[in-house]
Amino acid sequence: MVYDVSIIGSGPAGLSAAIYAKRANLSAIVIEKEYEGTGQIAESGRVDNYLGLPGISGYDLGETFRERAVKLEVEFLEQEVTRIQKEESGQFQMTFSDSSVIESKTVIYAAGASPRRADIPGEKEYVGKGVSYCAICDGSFYRGKKVAVLGGGDTALDDAAYLAGLAEQVYVIHRRKEFRGAVVTVEKLKEKENVTFVLEHQVKEITGKAKVTGVALEDGTVIDVDGVFVAFGSVPQTALVKDLVELDPAGYVKADETGETSLAGLYVAGDVRTKKLRQVVTAVSDGANAATAVAEYLK
Ligand code: NAP
Repeated sequence: MVYDVSIIGSGPAGLSAAIYAKRANLSAIVIEKEYEGTGQIAESGRVDNYLGLPGISGYDLGETFRERAVKLEVEFLEQEVTRIQKEESGQFQMTFSDSSVIESKTVIYAAGASPRRADIPGEKEYVGKGVSYCAICDGSFYRGKKVAVLGGGDTALDDAAYLAGLAEQVYVIHRRKEFRGAVVTVEKLKEKENVTFVLEHQVKEITGKAKVTGVALEDGTVIDVDGVFVAFGSVPQTALVKDLVELDPAGYVKADETGETSLAGLYVAGDVRTKKLRQVVTAVSDGANAATAVAEYLK
């Protein structure tokens, strides 16, 4: 069987694409590496910014998306894709780690991106207990509290600016003297009374008991904080498509909101795509747009 569309990834972007593909009467298959996975969202303790479902846990939100797809009889396949190839016929062939293959007329690639980790003691232990990789998702839990933002790029600076509006005190801890991010944001942050730059310092450990209580710097200084936002940027999962499509300078797949890439028939959706705001709501929107664009392409 040649499917109309293979959707790679079962996070919010992939599941949304699947629902829209089903409703457009396309034969679709969702390929997922993890058994009944729902992507990165499953790791979010609490999601407060997804319309209509305030305060839901990331795990439950992912399950809610998945239940809907299952109800619509979306076909899932638990496999790890090792190669995507466009054949002369214009169809795509997906090869899996067990060497089996499937074919489809189009592909929606929704494999996501993962936050770059700090790889320091305490980081893994306190994820969801004070360690976060997303200020817009988790910032509101730190209203009136003290937080540290690690990193010196635009993500770290934007996170610090956002958190400065909520938290009592924000420490921006960066390993160098110069910031990588925009000078204009640095200048704005300097004007904020509750933002302190801690430059030329690295965090060597995130400390805590049941929750985060502070960060220990490599010179032995401990800064007391309730939350740590690791803002070292993210790594898009592009290994399977990087030789097929154009990427932007940061390594994300170049595509507008239709998800259309430089390779006809290959679409992207979710965090792997060039965009400004990587959130569940934008991933879901991408999935819907990409499936709609696929339906038009197939016509
Ligand atoms: P980035 O530019 O790669 O910055 C990552 C930051 O984390 C750097 O300051 C880096 O330090 C630091 N870092 C990484 N690993 C570290 C480690 N192990 N220990 C200590 N520090 C570490 O990533 P980004 O900020 O996510 O930005 C990615 C791209 O998206 C950029 O092109 C950026 O301009 C763009 N972006 C734009 C906006 C905006 O326009 N508002 C917002 C977000 C992102 P070093 O500087 O020392 O390398």
